[in-house]
Amino acid sequence: MNSACINLLLWRGRWLLPPLALLGGVMFLARQPQWLTAAERLLPYLSVLLLTASGLIAYRFHRADLVQISLFWLLWLWGLLGGGVDPQLPPAPEVLAWALLVSALLLNRSLFSGMGLVQTLLLSGPLLLALVSGDSLLRQVGWLDTRLPTADLLTLLADGITARWLYGLALTGLTLRLLWRPGAANCALLAVGLLGCWQVQLDQPVAGVMAATALIGLSLLVGVIQTSYGVAYKDQLTGLKSRRALEERMARLGRKYTIAMVDVDHFKQFNDRHGHDVGDEVLRMVASRLNETRGGGKAFRYGGEEFTVLFPRRELDDALPHLESLRKRIGESRFRLRGRDRPRKRPNQPKRAKARQLSVKVSIGVAESIDRSERPADVLKRADKALYRAKRAGRNRVAC
Ligand code: GH3
Ligand code: MG
Ligand code: MG
Repeated sequence: MNSACINLLLWRGRWLLPPLALLGGVMFLARQPQWLTAAERLLPYLSVLLLTASGLIAYRFHRADLVQISLFWLLWLWGLLGGGVDPQLPPAPEVLAWALLVSALLLNRSLFSGMGLVQTLLLSGPLLLALVSGDSLLRQVGWLDTRLPTADLLTLLADGITARWLYGLALTGLTLRLLWRPGAANCALLAVGLLGCWQVQLDQPVAGVMAATALIGLSLLVGVIQTSYGVAYKDQLTGLKSRRALEERMARLGRKYTIAMVDVDHFKQFNDRHGHDVGDEVLRMVASRLNETRGGGKAFRYGGEEFTVLFPRRELDDALPHLESLRKRIGESRFRLRGRDRPRKRPNQPKRAKARQLSVKVSIGVAESIDRSERPADVLKRADKALYRAKRAGRNRVAC
């Protein structure tokens, strides 16, 4: 396994921590039933708190899909507490499996748009129907004394569908969603799916189910917080850490460090000649090379086509060889056009294929800290000046 694979595993692996922690929690609770009994009174409040918090944070960060899922689970919790939902009895397992399947397919559309409302209805509609048609809810609010026939209809439907198939489909969907878009939110959704399946398998009626619901709330909350953290600290286009993350990291630098400013040469030409999409792809390619910087270098997107590489605790002489090899590797990368105008079939003529290959070069300016009186922002300014010296000297070089 090469180092790129290991890096990828570590990078992706970060998202696996919350579900692994949850799995540990579940196994612990499953082995310690006395804990469950003790926490029984607390768990419903905790679940409401966690699910409401995840819904509100998701709303604040415009993740309508996560709001919809939090709402579904709040509704489910309401059903559990009011007796309208018994996770082991039909149609509840089917309703839940259906909701998990819909969760796997949800798109992040505005909550009150047509599509948003359809998604909410698809996700929570069957549960709402089961709740409304069950005895408890309508009796509680005094609307109806008799069971609606829809309850029988749902049970009938549920008998016809093998819940296991639905769960299998839902979990496959959630796994594919995670593989398609690896990230905290989709990882949390898979954890929610697994916990949902576990919930309907539980023998212990109240405490275990409540614990599973609380863990679902926790899992959603962790996913939502990690996603919102990503929005604030990660650059959406390149996946590198953002300028805000750079500023926070610079505030924590010690006495010795080196800062490099990297700028793509003649970048405007990529936009002008091939379109903005190709420009974006060039930036992603450069970012992925920067991410592979060795020697303790940490890459950030400074803005536009400018990047910063921080070398905490490294002197200029330590950083220079890594920056030089970075510049070379970017220059040697075979960058093929993948814009919208890319032909569907591979062109036959090798000449044309050659013409669609771009060469990307970068200039780099470096500066190291001198003493404590100088702020990191001043060192960065010196690196910026060095960058412009590299530009004036003919570009595609490292200057200090
Ligand atoms: P130099 O070699 O002197 O650095 O020239 P340059 O063309 O790279 O620099 P210039 O500052 O003239 O142009 C930078 C361009 O980068 C202008 C701007 O439209 C473009 N740009 C900034 N951010 C993005 C982005 O996120 N995506 C794309 N596609 N273009 C961007
Ligand atoms: Mg620039
Ligand atoms: Mg440039």
